[in-house]
Amino acid sequence: MKSVSVNGRNYALPNKPLVVICCDGSEPDYMEIAMQAGLMPNLQRIVAKGDNLRALSAMPSFTNPNNMSIATGALPKVHGIGGNYLIDPATGLETMMNDPKWLTAGTIFAAFHHAGAKVCVVTAKDKLRLLLGHGLNFDGKAICFSSERADKATLKDNGIEEVLDFVGKALPDVYSADLSEFVFAAGVKLLKRDRPDLMYLSTTDYVQHKFAPGSAGAHSFYQMMDGYLGALDAADCSLIIVADHGMKDKHLANGSPDVIYLQDAMDTKFGLGKTRVILPITDPYVVHHGALGSFAQIYLYGPYVEEAANFIKAQDGIDAVLTRAEAVARFGLYAERCGDLIVVSGGPRHSKVIGTSAAKHDLTGLDAPLRSHGGLSEQVVPFISNVKLKSLPQPLHNWDAFYVGCNCVETL
Ligand SMILES: [Zn+2]
Repeated sequence: MKSVSVNGRNYALPNKPLVVICCDGSEPDYMEIAMQAGLMPNLQRIVAKGDNLRALSAMPSFTNPNNMSIATGALPKVHGIGGNYLIDPATGLETMMNDPKWLTAGTIFAAFHHAGAKVCVVTAKDKLRLLLGHGLNFDGKAICFSSERADKATLKDNGIEEVLDFVGKALPDVYSADLSEFVFAAGVKLLKRDRPDLMYLSTTDYVQHKFAPGSAGAHSFYQMMDGYLGALDAADCSLIIVADHGMKDKHLANGSPDVIYLQDAMDTKFGLGKTRVILPITDPYVVHHGALGSFAQIYLYGPYVEEAANFIKAQDGIDAVLTRAEAVARFGLYAERCGDLIVVSGGPRHSKVIGTSAAKHDLTGLDAPLRSHGGLSEQVVPFISNVKLKSLPQPLHNWDAFYVGCNCVETL
């Protein structure tokens, strides 16, 4: 094997292990401010010899769509994953989207694996594991597990067992920085032991939802991460660090969430049952964001599209209201899984988030002022490498990470 073709792009087999880190919710300022504060000496060394660029995420700027874009090198219209949550076009029912049946494209990992390469995928939350690992056979040349369920990993289902012993850490809590640290620690061990051709390490944004760039909570996370970046870099690999999306303050000066309860507003205007607001950020782990983000799908059962669009546009803090066709053209969304309207919020301070009905959002778990994502302002992410890059795709996207690592590394 010299190269593989995946979703219309060719990927050359890297001549040394290619490690892509998706640091969940890593707004560019997190690493920049931590570097300026002298807390990331390894990253400083890495960017001095490599590149420190910016890229755009896919829309919506949520975790699953972007992880799957990175894993497939393609937009949601190709891989089918537009969020955590959707209305199933076949049944009309609201449903979670973490089952691989929703995937409409193969991953880069599966393509390399079937061509004989060794691939390792470690993700923080188990919700992504089945999607990222889809198409892998655990026959000795593939590993895919989550830190959330590291204690349950088996050779048959994950290509590895006794993970806690191997990594040398206890099972982390699902709401903790440790969940991400476990991913990094596992990555360092796997790189040294297995020398995989491709490795993908995907963390969780628990810390980024809670702590702004430059805060003590953020700094301690990035200081921790820096130690692992140093270990990965020292183990002779091409390293690319991206994020699935950025993260912004989404609260008012008094600390309460800056939210528009769009279902309530639509019910008042058009009547109960005439519209349905779907928030694709919704998942079983909503404690740290209360299911509030800057992106929504709207289904209409009565009002005309134009009337509804004009009503939503007139609300405070709305950045874009697009028809399905417009959203497919502008964002590369998967048409059959879109509502009649796609709404992106933000406003001048990028702070507006969309809720359904006030009564449906449990915000009691929010122990810090809301930070979240999903909008246009969270599309800007870091694109950092420990090697010099050339001939980059323009504009550069986070989902170019494997393409760039395979095809755009400058060889000295
Ligand atoms: Zn995320």
